[in-house]
Amino acid sequence: MVGAAGRMGQALAENLNLVDGLVVSAMVDLREPARLFGGSHFTSLERVAPSEVDVVVDFSQPDSVVTSAQWCARHRRGLVIGTTGLSDVQQSHVEVAAAATGVVMASNFSLGAVLSERFAAMAAPYFERVEIIELHHDRKVDAPSGTSIATAAHINDARRAAGRVTPEDPTRRVALEGARGADAGGGVRIHSVRLPGLVAHQEVLFGGAGEGLTIRHDSYDRVSFVQGVAIAVNHVDATPGFTWGIDDLIA
Ligand code: NAD
Repeated sequence: MVGAAGRMGQALAENLNLVDGLVVSAMVDLREPARLFGGSHFTSLERVAPSEVDVVVDFSQPDSVVTSAQWCARHRRGLVIGTTGLSDVQQSHVEVAAAATGVVMASNFSLGAVLSERFAAMAAPYFERVEIIELHHDRKVDAPSGTSIATAAHINDARRAAGRVTPEDPTRRVALEGARGADAGGGVRIHSVRLPGLVAHQEVLFGGAGEGLTIRHDSYDRVSFVQGVAIAVNHVDATPGFTWGIDDLIA
C-alpha cells in the first residue's frame, strides 16, 4: 500500500485486510502510518522485497505513482492506481509500465460512482445541456476531481455518438472569473466545491425542454472505495496491459 499513512491508505489497509485472500503486507509512506494493520512500514517502495508483494496499490500523490509504476514494471508486479491529478508526462510513465506489467487505474473505485457514470452516459443524448458539480473534502489538492473529468468524457462520447450538439453558452459578461466553472469540452461545465465534512460527492445535472434530471452519487465514507479496489487487486497481475476504470471488471 503506497500512501499508507494517508486518509485513503489507512481506510484501505484496514478494510482490504478483511477481504478473503488479501493481506496488506507493506505500508509504504514517507510518514509513519498511525496504524499498521499487521503490515510493516517502509519509507519507499525501493526498500520492499518484491517477493513479499503480489500487487501494489497506490493512493498517494502523482510523483510517487511514477516510482510505483517503474518498480512494478521492473519486478513484474500488478499495480492498482487510485491517485488522481497526474500530468500527461506522469501518465505516460504509467502507460510505459503497463507494457511490462498489468495496471488498473481508476479515478473512482466506488461502485456507485461507476454506475452513476454509466447512467450519465445513458442520459446524455436525451438532454440539451449538462453541467457537473463535484463536491469534496477541504484537503483535496486537485480540481476538478478525476471522476468529474471522466464523467464529462463519457457524456461527450455518448453525445457525439448520438450526433447531439450542445447549444452555445449564452453567457457574455462574467462579473467574477470562474463563475461558469471549468470547460470540460463539448459544452460540459464542471464546478468544484471544497468543504470540511464532505468526502466525495457528485451531481450531474441535465436540462431539457421543461424538465431536468439529476444523477447524484455520495461517498459518505472512504470504505465506499474498498470493494472496487479489492476487485481491481483480484483482477490485476503481471500480464502486461492498461485498464482504465473498473467498469469492465464489474460486468
Ligand atoms: P492524503 O494526503 O491523506 O494521503 C497521501 C499520502 O501519500 C500521505 O500520507 C503522504 O505522506 C503519502 N506520500 C506522498 N508522497 C509519497 C511518496 N513519495 N511515497 C510514499 N508515500 C507518499 O491523501 P488521500 O485523501 O488519502 O488521497 C490520496 C490520493 O487518492 C489522492 O490523489 C486522491 O485524489 C486519491 N483518491 C482516489 C480515489 C479513487 O477512487 N480513485 C478515492 C479517494 C481518493
